[in-house]
Amino acid sequence: MSKAVTGKPAAAPAARTELCGLTIAQAAAGLEARKFSAVELTRAHLAAIEALDSRLNAFITVTPELALEQAAAADLRLATGDGRTLTGIPLAIKDLFCTEGVRTTAASRILEPFTPPYESTVTAQLKDSGAVFLGKANLDEFAMGSSNMTSGFGPVENPWQRRGSNVKLVPGGSSGGSAAAVAARMAMGATGTDTGGSIRQPASFCGLAGIKPTYGRCSRYGIVAFASSLDQAGPLARTVEDCAILLGAMAGFDAKDSTSAERPVPYFRGAVTAGVRGKRIGIPAEYRMPGMPEEIEALWQRGVRWLKSEGAEIVDISLPHTKYGLPVYYIVAPAEASSNLARYDGVRFGARIDGEDLIDMYERTRAAGFGAEVKRRIMIGTYVLSAGYYDAYYLKAQKVRALILRDFEQAFAKVDAILTPTAPSAAFGMGEKMDDPIKMYLNDVFTVPASLAGVPAMSVPAGLSEEGLPLGLQVIGRHFDEETVFAVSGALEQAADFRSKPAVMAKGA
Ligand code: GLN
Repeated sequence: MSKAVTGKPAAAPAARTELCGLTIAQAAAGLEARKFSAVELTRAHLAAIEALDSRLNAFITVTPELALEQAAAADLRLATGDGRTLTGIPLAIKDLFCTEGVRTTAASRILEPFTPPYESTVTAQLKDSGAVFLGKANLDEFAMGSSNMTSGFGPVENPWQRRGSNVKLVPGGSSGGSAAAVAARMAMGATGTDTGGSIRQPASFCGLAGIKPTYGRCSRYGIVAFASSLDQAGPLARTVEDCAILLGAMAGFDAKDSTSAERPVPYFRGAVTAGVRGKRIGIPAEYRMPGMPEEIEALWQRGVRWLKSEGAEIVDISLPHTKYGLPVYYIVAPAEASSNLARYDGVRFGARIDGEDLIDMYERTRAAGFGAEVKRRIMIGTYVLSAGYYDAYYLKAQKVRALILRDFEQAFAKVDAILTPTAPSAAFGMGEKMDDPIKMYLNDVFTVPASLAGVPAMSVPAGLSEEGLPLGLQVIGRHFDEETVFAVSGALEQAADFRSKPAVMAKGA
């Protein structure tokens, strides 16, 4: 295909998987300079998937024919000088985004047979920008989880390993398939969604950059709903700049989502190198949790020093309601989930298990279609919304949520951005924390407050744990001020100079 387009000799039969090591920015430049074709770049990634994914399980569905078709179309555009920002760039799409004609499961057995007749706005915009879709990435079922262990299509393995150990680790969740795919160089970037940390925590566990933009920045149209007042789409990639490029294509007003914000999309890429001179960075006292591992505290202090030496002013701040973040989140998110998931009744789409009557059919379908964590959330959500408990739990949680938002507003009167760790630990072993849901929920302690407040937050790879696993720092910004988040993240990235690579990845990348 590349031959027909470029008139050059046919590509060597072996896929050039070394191309998988490029960043999106580098690959876009290489494509434009015709150093390699989009078809070659896509073939390289498909070969990496072929070689690695039977082990990692980062994809639920791989679409090689579609990808090669899109790549060939990209080459045609490039040949006529008609390339756009992402023309020919191979991406993984979290299997929570509806893709027209391509099965979309939300990693749930209840949606196993579902092929959407329409496209989500975010993926439609990525396609318009020229991106190539390699396939649909694995996730926790309906994005409920922090480990990818709840997927109805099997867990995802983190391509990283502890030094001198081959214990299998989780990639984090819920966008764990997206993160594993990008870390293993099976995709150049990926879409994720973040309801309480699902972009940032897997980014931290897999040594990637990932941003949850301001609530309303990206359209939720066509994204399978988990908790509608919290869900936001965002990118995962290997550099801050790549995230800025991807978010630029994903963001923007959409009349089809009533909570989408009617705001112009800034040139995020330009913000990445803006620097932090004169910026005030807040350090919230309440994020220093009792029992926090020494290495997480040390990483945080390193981040503070880096920003200070780049000319930022460090300011101690207080976010007094931080300790209510997790309890509030684990009331609001299940409440909204229980209502959103009522639509899976075996009638309109997805799986159906027939029963003796209508109610019996509902019960059998939902009993067989949903996994244990999803059932737990539906039960919690139904309980906190039920008459008699609504005021005590749901309404109270909404009030405390308003206080958490106020904490951020008061802090942002004094500072331009906030620096915290992303997660309280490095990646843990597959199967760990499965016996106790509370332990699993504690993963989200640093990420849920920004979700509840709707403010943008990004995780940047900042160092390695003692065992050689990636650790991320989180940068939180004001509503719709992703530019400052990118500037601070860019400065951290440069100072951290994170070059370590995972144990499992594309050959030569
Ligand atoms: N881990 C959190 C949960 O299980 C967040 C998930 C998400 O952001 N989608 O709800």
